[in-house]
Amino acid sequence: VQSTMQDVPLLISRILTHGSTIHGASQVTTWTDGASGGGEPHRRGFAEIGDRAAQLAHALRDELAVADDDRVATLMWNNAEHVEAYFAIPAMGAVLHTLNLRLPAAQLAWIINHAADRVVIVNGSLIPLLAPLLPHLKTVEHVVVSGPGDRAPLADATARVHEYEDLIAGRPTSYDWPELDERQAAALCYTSGTTGDPKGVVYSHRSIYLHSMQVNMAQSMGLTDQDTSLVVVPQFHVNAWGLPHATFMTGVNMLMPDRFLQPVPLAEMIERERPTHAAAVPTIWQGLLAELTAHPRDVTSLTQVTIGGSACPPALMEAFDRLGMRVCHAWGMTETSPLGTVARPPAQAIGTPEEFAYRLTQGRFPAGVEARLTGPDGERLPWDGESAGELEVRGNWIAGAYYNGPDAEPLRPADKFSEDGWLKTGDVGTISPDGYLTLTDRAKDVIKSGGEWISSVELENALMAHPDVAEAAVVAVPDDKWGERPLATVVLKEGATADFTTLRAFLAEEGGIAKWQLPERWTIIESVPKTSVGKFDKKVLRRRYADGDLD
Ligand code: ADP
Repeated sequence: VQSTMQDVPLLISRILTHGSTIHGASQVTTWTDGASGGGEPHRRGFAEIGDRAAQLAHALRDELAVADDDRVATLMWNNAEHVEAYFAIPAMGAVLHTLNLRLPAAQLAWIINHAADRVVIVNGSLIPLLAPLLPHLKTVEHVVVSGPGDRAPLADATARVHEYEDLIAGRPTSYDWPELDERQAAALCYTSGTTGDPKGVVYSHRSIYLHSMQVNMAQSMGLTDQDTSLVVVPQFHVNAWGLPHATFMTGVNMLMPDRFLQPVPLAEMIERERPTHAAAVPTIWQGLLAELTAHPRDVTSLTQVTIGGSACPPALMEAFDRLGMRVCHAWGMTETSPLGTVARPPAQAIGTPEEFAYRLTQGRFPAGVEARLTGPDGERLPWDGESAGELEVRGNWIAGAYYNGPDAEPLRPADKFSEDGWLKTGDVGTISPDGYLTLTDRAKDVIKSGGEWISSVELENALMAHPDVAEAAVVAVPDDKWGERPLATVVLKEGATADFTTLRAFLAEEGGIAKWQLPERWTIIESVPKTSVGKFDKKVLRRRYADGDLD
């Protein structure tokens, strides 16, 4: 029997049209230099964003001759213009390619050439990053500059340089968005390469649409037009975890920090603009917490904080809870759009001592994501909360391959995709009988000591629970007897004096760490090196201490 339902493609243009009409009064507020000085931030309603997205699409098509499938890149902070690009580019049928502005120059150039981007929209403040790359970019014909910043470094550019505002000015504020195939490419994002070379993931209109609906569910972020979300997670980091699309579906206001990502302006933004929700990786919140501890402010508006990207340390969750900012922990990756799990405790655990433990897990899988655990010999492991294996997932917004250039077949490397098409996440953990995922480590970060595995994350969390410890990262170092042993690299809080004996005793007594897992190698460092998206960069630490020399 044929279904009798209409078959309307799931398109980004529909999200834009919906948000800019039904929720036209909702706002994108962007922090500015002036706002940091006490002035007003910049505000733009969703209706105006819709108008300007249409103007941008006209400009890209008529002036820059952007045609189907062309890649248009953004090298931008989180701001209103970036939201306009987010909608205009895929809605007109081209492909949005968000560039990670924290990558080393050579890697950025490699990615732009690999994607064969024709246009780069750049924030004025990022011209010093883009200009020296231009001679190495083979396919970029146009640079479009938005916002304040010295244009001089672009004077000799061979690509044509345009001003964003001049380019869109006077163009029609509506666009006859094409009726695309919902499976067509909408956005391209490269993994941040924590564990290897960057790989491109191409999201479809359909995957983004379905993912956005999931982000909006009460079991996920569950926000409404009464909320304002402080979107700290960069728009180049897995589409800001889907927030720009999700907010246009439900009218959630967005508070965009632009380049003001330091703890002081973030605290100021929260106090003045009173967001109800915020999303970022743990390192951002560690910094904010230190700032709020030193200089308390009114942060009572902020009742929900989504933390993901790396494991949320229990001490951070507790500290945020005390401030009234309830942490919701989530897991995902570039390949999963990113929402893979969300740690909302089950109804029966609410108000019981188990509630906190549930919140610390990575969480439950939503209906669009299926999961399985695979053991070292490829066997399926039970969901018993004890058997640890590699997590594999599949679903409506999970990658099935990697981008391999515009005209090539997508890549399906065997270490990333199973023969039957599931994504191998490289994350190791357990799943409880009621479906909660607990990650013990990344496969590449696990410390293999004498045939047993030591979880680097468990040691880090236990260390960061000590009042003297600001940050701690644990990596494997070679050991003659055991193969590998853990090395603890510790950043102490200002003025703190804890020594290794104290910390080791703390791990054993308070942290519940088994004796054979306790690190015997320690070093105090100034700060933990971070990746381009703010995670602990263990690759760098491993390299630094590869010879076992701690000096
Ligand atoms: P990269 O792989 O370059 O770090 P991603 O942002 O795609 O870029 O990172 C995805 C990875 O981040 C996951 O595979 C997992 O290892 C880690 N991760 C994400 N969220 C969590 C979490 N809540 N707890 C533990 N690890 C997490």
